[in-house]
Amino acid sequence: NKMLTNDQLAQWDRESFFHPSTHLAQFARGEAPQRIVTGGEGVFIEDRDGNRLLDAFAGLYCVNVGYGRTEIAEAISKQAHELAYYHAYVGHGTEAAITLAHMVLERAPANMSKVYFGLSGSDANETNIKLVWYYNNILGRPEKKKIISRWRGYHGSGLMTGSLTGLGLFHKKFDLPLAQVIHTEAPYYFRRPDAEMTEAQFTAHCVAELEALIDREGADTIAAFIGEPVLGTGGLVPPPEGYWAAIQEVLKKHDILLIADEVVTGFGRLGSMTGSEHYGIEPDLMTIAKGLTSAYAPLSGSIVGERMWKVLERGTDENGAFGHGWTYSAHPIGAAAGVANLKLVDSLGLVDNAGVVGAYLNAQMTEALGEHSRVGDVRGEGMMCAVELVEDRQARRHYEQPGKTAGAIVAKMVEKGVIARAMPQGDILGFAPPLCLSQAEADRIVEVTADSIREVL
Ligand code: PLP
Repeated sequence: NKMLTNDQLAQWDRESFFHPSTHLAQFARGEAPQRIVTGGEGVFIEDRDGNRLLDAFAGLYCVNVGYGRTEIAEAISKQAHELAYYHAYVGHGTEAAITLAHMVLERAPANMSKVYFGLSGSDANETNIKLVWYYNNILGRPEKKKIISRWRGYHGSGLMTGSLTGLGLFHKKFDLPLAQVIHTEAPYYFRRPDAEMTEAQFTAHCVAELEALIDREGADTIAAFIGEPVLGTGGLVPPPEGYWAAIQEVLKKHDILLIADEVVTGFGRLGSMTGSEHYGIEPDLMTIAKGLTSAYAPLSGSIVGERMWKVLERGTDENGAFGHGWTYSAHPIGAAAGVANLKLVDSLGLVDNAGVVGAYLNAQMTEALGEHSRVGDVRGEGMMCAVELVEDRQARRHYEQPGKTAGAIVAKMVEKGVIARAMPQGDILGFAPPLCLSQAEADRIVEVTADSIREVL
């Protein structure tokens, strides 16, 4: 309502609106950033103060096709007019949901069998853990239930998914992680324990850590391993050389299921349709969200592999209907947005563009900042890029007050019209722009990043 003054809205915001992932006290006191977003077009958003900002994080790396796509808006409108809602329980469905399931499987690895639709990445991962437990119960091994996740992994904010998430902020004072979750080493080469290690040696180290954890806990107590093909919120970290092949070998040996959390990497971000395709991962379950609809409407999915599906079917023959569903599972408006979105990803060639312009962005960022005395690491894959700031480059030493430096640089960048994300742990500038980014826009991101670092440090 444009009749409201900016001051009135800002006051209501502070008085009434509980913001997620926000410093509540600072926000209430008016000390934290407050931005009321009104519009978007391509890679730009606009706010009520009249700023136009290049969104180099695509919202929360989800607006993959960019803002303002009328094709998706029209598909949503058409669906809302025809049928805004019907449920998907006991065999009901809609044309949009069925079509989207078919389209998702066309884009997934060959051994994938079915798609269960949810609302968010978090609930899709909750579903996945329930599927894993159900599976092992049907197979008559009720002790095989623990889930291995990695430190620095991000899998959501629910009770189980917040536990899987390996970032302290998401555990602290929430009594997490839950007991069934165990964490292993982050595949984070820059933070390798010994500076002399090659990537291949570091991979061997991660594998040895995983083996040791499995030995300690007992393989017959461990049901699944969950991981993002590229660590996202934990710092935008591509895996070291040979990582996924080596990890999969260990999991196969111990009959541990693999969940590929493709919430960020699904549908093109790495320059491949999926992260699994990109790294040769053969998951039993895949988690998708964000890029499924480019966030035009909330929708997520659990893609279930053939091997699990057979057991789930058997489970219902033995126990009756599968007792798991949300009112909004496969919501028709989300599904209509998903169908229109995936068509657009194809017709605009966004998977290829993510590979080409993403490589360009990473190369330019490396050239501009790779040798800077306060930059420890510039890394990325596809349309994901990170600049990690350090107090001492030689010693790879963190700043004493983590987050402060990255926060100051991000604030400076906003003044210059570019949104980057200060990742939640450490001093890491994150970039994950819409997949439609142009080379000129990539240049602008790099220029503003380099200028801001120069001015702040
Ligand atoms: N998994 C990954 C890899 C994510 O990056 C996220 C969100 O950033 C989630 C799961 C949780 O998704 P949501 O925030 O939609 O619950």
